[in-house]
Amino acid sequence: TRTHLVTGAASGIGRATVDLLRAQGHAVIGADLKDSDISADLSTAEGRAELVSRARELSGGRLDAVISCAGTAQFDPLTIKVNHFGAVATLEGLRTLLAAGTDPRALVVSSIDSVHPTDPAIVDAALAGDEEAAVAASRAAVDRGEGHLVYSSSKAAISRWIRRSAVTEDWAGAGIPLNAVGPGVVVTPMTRPMLDDPDMLKLVEQSVPMPLHGHARPERIAPLIVWLTSPENTHVTGQVVFVDGGADAVLRGDRT
Ligand code: NAD
Repeated sequence: TRTHLVTGAASGIGRATVDLLRAQGHAVIGADLKDSDISADLSTAEGRAELVSRARELSGGRLDAVISCAGTAQFDPLTIKVNHFGAVATLEGLRTLLAAGTDPRALVVSSIDSVHPTDPAIVDAALAGDEEAAVAASRAAVDRGEGHLVYSSSKAAISRWIRRSAVTEDWAGAGIPLNAVGPGVVVTPMTRPMLDDPDMLKLVEQSVPMPLHGHARPERIAPLIVWLTSPENTHVTGQVVFVDGGADAVLRGDRT
């Protein structure tokens, strides 16, 4: 059995992933704001430090996989803090525990929204590792009525961070595949309010067309996450694997 650490473990895609891993007999350390093994707010430096120190205690100093699911979709600078900087802090903070594991693997849940329009000021600041500037750019986007760009920018930034980082000494050099999955619309507490509102639902269907099987349950995303973080995955790295009912193919069909 392997030991996985999953953030965002208390709800939605994270919880479905924890359930599948446990059903397969693996040990899981869950982290979330509450209702999990580790309570940590990944939007703050204290919470990020708490995650790493508690993970070290609970794991005995070694992890076989880290899965970063924690995320929020608020039209607020909080979204860049959690979705990009929280995910980076999770992966970088737990990398030494992973390096001590067996067949170590790492993964972030990004989004199909990473291919939507973004705010380059937010993305560039995030990729430069400048949280203060990324928060300021996010606040500016919210103030001019473009709060939705904070989410797409947070997911574009983390996807690019994955691709850049996967091939470095820290990850490929340490034998650790590092990937993202990019779900389309998944029915979770994050999206439920939008899907229940007919006007919002229309907008969602326009921006994320899913010709195959429609909106997904979180249980449909978990098996891909589990495979990408299993020892069977030896050569997939630096990828954002869309699990989106065809949305990426519709939106970017000519991309090779
Ligand atoms: P969810 O709201 O059910 O789960 C997200 C979890 O993250 C919650 O348990 C929440 O408490 C936790 N979280 C939020 N802020 C946190 C913080 N500051 N510190 C620690 N934990 C925090 O939503 P979900 O749909 O399961 O989302 C999981 C991931 O999947 C997110 O990264 C989301 O952006 C991504 N995603 C979701 C969809 C979708 O349609 N639901 C689509 C694409 C990507």
